[in-house]
Amino acid sequence: MSRRMTYEEKREKKRAAERRRYANLTDEQREKQREKKAVYDRDRYANLTDEQREKRDDAERRWRTNMTDEQRKRKNAARRRWQFKKNGITSEQYDRQFEAQDGRCAICGRHHTECLNGRLVPDHDHETGELRGLLCHKENRSLGLFGDNLAGLLKPVKYLIGGDPERLAMAISYLKRKSDGRPY
Ligand SMILES: [Zn+2]
Repeated sequence: MSRRMTYEEKREKKRAAERRRYANLTDEQREKQREKKAVYDRDRYANLTDEQREKRDDAERRWRTNMTDEQRKRKNAARRRWQFKKNGITSEQYDRQFEAQDGRCAICGRHHTECLNGRLVPDHDHETGELRGLLCHKENRSLGLFGDNLAGLLKPVKYLIGGDPERLAMAISYLKRKSDGRPY
């Protein structure tokens, strides 16, 4: 005699079918589906009452703390894949660069474990699209604030040296002495 499926079994079966369907989609179809879902989620969240929203946020917090190691691993792997895709590099490229920089930020030289978020982010030359290096969150943001280029960065330098080229020359010789062959 066949036993009736429990709620969990039914749910797992449904999810497995969804996963199979999703695996067979083309990138374009996936992108479309993601966009549709994002709009749907946004609308739904916007239309919740305060009470419903609180309940939902609570459930999400609970889920985050109660995730199994397996679920957390899957979630982190998905995030990593998504981030690399967004950044236009492969995880192999990232790992190679990471090794070359000894796990340190290419500007400040701090080890990634001492940086904000504990991660280094890829920095691209916006003109050529090439990977320049991996930076800590702080430096990556600062570069962006100064326009992500040399001309933009030289403006505060000019300000800091007070227009005195002698002070710039001193700073450069200091940098040369300090870097002794390291990439930063
Ligand atoms: Zn840094």
